[in-house]
Amino acid sequence: MRSPSLWRALLGVEKTVVEEVEYDENDEVVVAHVRPRRAKHGRCGACGRCAPWFDRGEGRRRWRALDLGTVRVFLEADAPRVTCQVHGPTVRQMPWARHGAGHTHAFDQQVAWLATQCSKSAVTALMRIAWRTVGSIVTRVCADIDARVDRLSGLRRIGIDEVSYRKGKKFLTVVVDHDTGRLVWARPGRDAATLRVFFDELGAERSAQLTHVSADTASWIANTVATRAPQAVVCADPFHIVAWATQCLDDVRREVWNEARRKPGGTKAWGSHAGLRHNTSRGNARKLQRSRYALWKNPEDLTENQRAKLEWIAATSPKLHRAYLLKEGLRHVFKVKGEQGKQALQQWLAWASRSRINVFVVLGRKIRRHLPAIHATLTERMSNAIVESVNTKIRLLTRVAFGFHGPEPLIALTMLNLGGYRPNLPGRT
Ligand SMILES: [Zn+2]
Repeated sequence: MRSPSLWRALLGVEKTVVEEVEYDENDEVVVAHVRPRRAKHGRCGACGRCAPWFDRGEGRRRWRALDLGTVRVFLEADAPRVTCQVHGPTVRQMPWARHGAGHTHAFDQQVAWLATQCSKSAVTALMRIAWRTVGSIVTRVCADIDARVDRLSGLRRIGIDEVSYRKGKKFLTVVVDHDTGRLVWARPGRDAATLRVFFDELGAERSAQLTHVSADTASWIANTVATRAPQAVVCADPFHIVAWATQCLDDVRREVWNEARRKPGGTKAWGSHAGLRHNTSRGNARKLQRSRYALWKNPEDLTENQRAKLEWIAATSPKLHRAYLLKEGLRHVFKVKGEQGKQALQQWLAWASRSRINVFVVLGRKIRRHLPAIHATLTERMSNAIVESVNTKIRLLTRVAFGFHGPEPLIALTMLNLGGYRPNLPGRT
């Protein structure tokens, strides 16, 4: 074996003796026979404690390493077991790979970096591994970061939210740091018990340091925060409040659309307030259905075509147009914030209660019930942008993570992406 240091560098391993390297022409792989440099001093693979020899285990094992050029590379070594005081007979620690992993550190690191940078198909094709393997790798890389850094230190202002994965059937509870914009915590579930785990991990002392907690108005969040961090000002996320109004608007749109659809042939105008006569109410129904995006979008983002649709709605269905203005009015409240926002909200509530649109009357009552939290948001001028953008990014990632086994790889992938500790490529800082 010439130049063992060259081979150590090429294989990206440390504290390792490269005994021999061979090329297997049948399988077209390079196999490097290795052993830990201090083979006599065994440590438990699970905890790293010094432990005496137990047995040979299952003999020789292979670990996938980074490719050399186009050729796949494996490390091969004995994998004896040691007797750990805590873990019993366990495979000894290897300097080139994580315990229980079938890939080297460098391989794991490269996959984790790629998973935060490129598409699913790019990662799996380039690294020649299954997507599920990517899931296992990001999970162990993230666990290593979690063991090294304390994500929950120094929290003052946090946002708590829930994100659905698996088509609205399963949920994650996520916690975002408003000051750094980082995702600091995520767990499957959306109930008080899940959130209590967060406060348990945070501990009483650090919970007492929280000054603001923003969330949607779900009672399980409000109640848990009230008992675990009673000093924190609870603010309502504007994003969720405006989403309620958007939902109401959609209800009105569907109602108006159904009315238009039911009109036979359409000799009467479907927008009864306008008194306009249309012969093609079915055409109106279709047009109305297509105008959905114009209604949902913020006015400043509308295209020319969508703006024309809104004008058409104003002319043909005053009720739907009023609903649109109500949604926009509520958005305006959170845009101006402060005292001005409070005044605008007061006016909005009066407007909603006499709007004669039932869903908005009901929404007005709901907002009155949550007035203290909404006022806190307006007074504290809490930005909603961070929670909303993290929420949007997680939703994108849940689609990427489809095919992973269980929620842990999804959490790991979102933590690697949004937690502020992105993995580096191996050999680079
Ligand atoms: Zn151990």
